[in-house]
Amino acid sequence: MSNNNQTIPIAKPWLEEAEAQAARRAILSGWVTQGPEVAAFEREFADYVRSKYACAVSNCTTALHLALLAVGVKSGDEVITVSHSYIATANSIRYCGAIPVFVDIEPQSYNINPLLIEEVISDRTRAILVVHQMGMPCDLKAMLNIARRHNLPVIEDAACAIGSEILWDGEWEKIGKPHGDIACFSFHPRKIITTGDGGMITTNNPQWDKQFRLLRQHSMSVPDTVRHNAKQVIFESYPMLGYNYRMTNIQGAVGREQLKRLPEILTRRRYLAQRYQELLADVLGLKLPSQPPWAKSNWQSFCVRLPDKCDQKQGMQAMLDAGISTRRGIMCAHREPAYQQETWFCGVGDEGCHCEKGSCDRLIESEQAQDHSIILPLFHQMTEQEQERVVEILKRVCQI
Ligand SMILES: *Cc1c(COP(=O)(O)O)cnc(C)c1O
Repeated sequence: MSNNNQTIPIAKPWLEEAEAQAARRAILSGWVTQGPEVAAFEREFADYVRSKYACAVSNCTTALHLALLAVGVKSGDEVITVSHSYIATANSIRYCGAIPVFVDIEPQSYNINPLLIEEVISDRTRAILVVHQMGMPCDLKAMLNIARRHNLPVIEDAACAIGSEILWDGEWEKIGKPHGDIACFSFHPRKIITTGDGGMITTNNPQWDKQFRLLRQHSMSVPDTVRHNAKQVIFESYPMLGYNYRMTNIQGAVGREQLKRLPEILTRRRYLAQRYQELLADVLGLKLPSQPPWAKSNWQSFCVRLPDKCDQKQGMQAMLDAGISTRRGIMCAHREPAYQQETWFCGVGDEGCHCEKGSCDRLIESEQAQDHSIILPLFHQMTEQEQERVVEILKRVCQI
């Protein structure tokens, strides 16, 4: 058994002196909450994904909340999404008092199955919230075709998808342009770049962007940045119910440095992911992630489906004992105790879903993916030797 120092972590943020200096710069400027560094980070982020607008917020969960509010999601409305995602996806819908309508995933991509959408659209459907799970773009073309036909807005949960690309009318474009109506990103340390916590909302709609900026700061009519520089006394007002979803200036400064590292991070992650594919190609019964020809993942997570004979929990424990940290496949919100209380549907016309706890027969692929896949270590600083150790131990643990 190796000691903890040698355990290969599942992920590791790449933070160095540049980020420490940036935080220092923001702190010593005296302007520590949402201010000029945040504004600069927003411009640089919008340039990167080529969106018209980018609005920084406190995290991706609050980004999703504001996005749903912007497209008019209200109490009692239905929002079509996946259960197979981090729980924040479903929670953001519940924050609006709306009801998540869970559809199953495609087993190969771990993303929403476009073939299952139309059958759950009802006259209460207000939006579709798609996820680019683990950084792999979902089939946006198919999703948009359906959504446009039914006049529904599409929000992209791009929490994990910074730097991921999709082939769009012959050109490779960054996720977040956005191709749907609004895209939401996360800067949690488990994602590709980090500001500690943090989020970004991109859109090309000026009204929505304006609303994000209002609501993230209590709906304050005149921002503190404007009052600070004013020569005349100004009183602000609060026209609607707002929130405190601000990003701090310290985070904004760190985010700008992280954005500079992004191209190098992506190159390295894609190299390591390709290498996993090669090193694991001949393992019997192990299913590797597949990338459609129209998508380029950032490989936020490298998720493999274990051979049938390999028990997930035992396998993960054996790997941990051998100094390799893994995570189980993506969770399913509908199987959590919280969603025994929260309302959700898995079809049309249900008054809630009457499935047994922990199993819904309309969400079989989601549950299978959660129960039989594991996520392998992958991070920018990971060495080839570390990767070979992961492969060797995975092979041994599954006795293959
Ligand atoms: C991480 C994650 C979120 C939540 O992001 P936070 O910034 O932690 O709020 C939402 N959706 C998905 C798919 C995620 O992976």
